[in-house]
Amino acid sequence: MWCVPVGILCKQHLAGEHAEHHQLEGTILRHPHGEAIAEGHAERGNIDTTRLEERHDDLAAEMERRGMNHDSPLDYDGPTFGAGAIDVERNREDLLERCADCAARARERPTDA
Ligand SMILES: [Zn+2]
Ligand SMILES: [Zn+2]
Repeated sequence: MWCVPVGILCKQHLAGEHAEHHQLEGTILRHPHGEAIAEGHAERGNIDTTRLEERHDDLAAEMERRGMNHDSPLDYDGPTFGAGAIDVERNREDLLERCADCAARARERPTDA
């Protein structure tokens, strides 16, 4: 969960972060060690399940705005992991360093970035 403004995500990172939300839900609810895995992600500040549904919906709306297919609603009702754990500023720096496409989008959208 990058949780950066959705407008700066390149198509790949937008689709990728969206897919991670569904994977995380599946892991927590169905993987035999799902809760331990989620605990680990939460400790590293990678996830915050209190934001899972809202962030998913933001990503899905942005995908639709860009003409990408979205037909996978997410209605998370499971246990809480990582409340308040995500450092958006750090994630933003990390992402823009790793991805030239996201960095270019951020430069074009200074109010989002
Ligand atoms: Zn979805
Ligand atoms: Zn990117």
